[in-house]
Amino acid sequence: MNCTKCKTKAAIKIPRHHAAFCRGCFTNFVHDQVARAIKSETMFGKDDRILVAVSGGKDSLALWNILLKLGYKADGFYVDLGIGGYSERSHTMVRQFADTIGVPSGAVLHTHTVEREEGAGIKELAQLVHRPTCSTCGTIKRYQFNRAAVVQEYDVMATGHNLDDEAARLLGNVLHWQEDYLDKQGPTLPASVDGFAKKVKPLYRLSERELAAYCVVNNIQYIVDECPMAQGARTLLYKEVLNRLETESPGTKQYFYWGFLEKQRKKRASSEGMLERDQALLHPCSACGQPTTAEMCSYCKLMARAKREVSG
Ligand code: SF4
Ligand SMILES: [Zn+2]
Ligand SMILES: [Zn+2]
Repeated sequence: MNCTKCKTKAAIKIPRHHAAFCRGCFTNFVHDQVARAIKSETMFGKDDRILVAVSGGKDSLALWNILLKLGYKADGFYVDLGIGGYSERSHTMVRQFADTIGVPSGAVLHTHTVEREEGAGIKELAQLVHRPTCSTCGTIKRYQFNRAAVVQEYDVMATGHNLDDEAARLLGNVLHWQEDYLDKQGPTLPASVDGFAKKVKPLYRLSERELAAYCVVNNIQYIVDECPMAQGARTLLYKEVLNRLETESPGTKQYFYWGFLEKQRKKRASSEGMLERDQALLHPCSACGQPTTAEMCSYCKLMARAKREVSG
């Protein structure tokens, strides 16, 4: 099979676009998909400072690389969760990328170490507060990522969520009719109030398989193993189901998620009203000052509980 663009020998087939590309044209295709996402969802401009959450996996490292190649000012933010060998290997991948590509392109890597800053690794913290590891992890990562963006005056926070992630999340939200989540699920979440940075997902037009291929084609080393805590996560089941549908009928994932975004766009006027209502409910956390709807934000509650468990 030949490349759809330049007619030389193709290296990768993209059934959902009825296309095949050679290595060079595939890289251009990926960059073009991200550029289209940034433009159509008004994510950021060339003067904005972007903070990219990097985990050492293919999606986040591909995202950092693409943004730098497209000429954006993008720095990395890595959270060392303290999960034994997994964290060591993922940290190595992030450092290696930063040393060879990030820093030479003028970028900076920020690192937050949970064992040092929160006092214990993520598994130990979760046990202390009697909560599932992933929910403890989510609270800490969201809080520290937003804090780093606000304190260091970044204009926008970017994450490596891809089409598979977003379609699986949408399926979960639809199956459980989580209407609140459905209203807020999109590739751009504006900075709601002072203290909450704008959040974007520039990879929502690309699949997991395409991002893995992009890393291979562009010599980006990444950690292949999933976090050991992810075993049995419901999202993995939703991804499997969507992959079966995609194999039978290429394009299903994109019709599902992009179709949802199209409908959401039409509803935008009313959802903006809702965002304003949500903002009215926000006020500063009594402990740290970050906006929250409760008296104390979920991060401060979690840390207060961990301290009580240690001292009591
Ligand atoms: S799988 Fe759970 S513990 Fe691991 S990084 Fe994801 S949220 Fe954190
Ligand atoms: Zn080509
Ligand atoms: Zn707080």
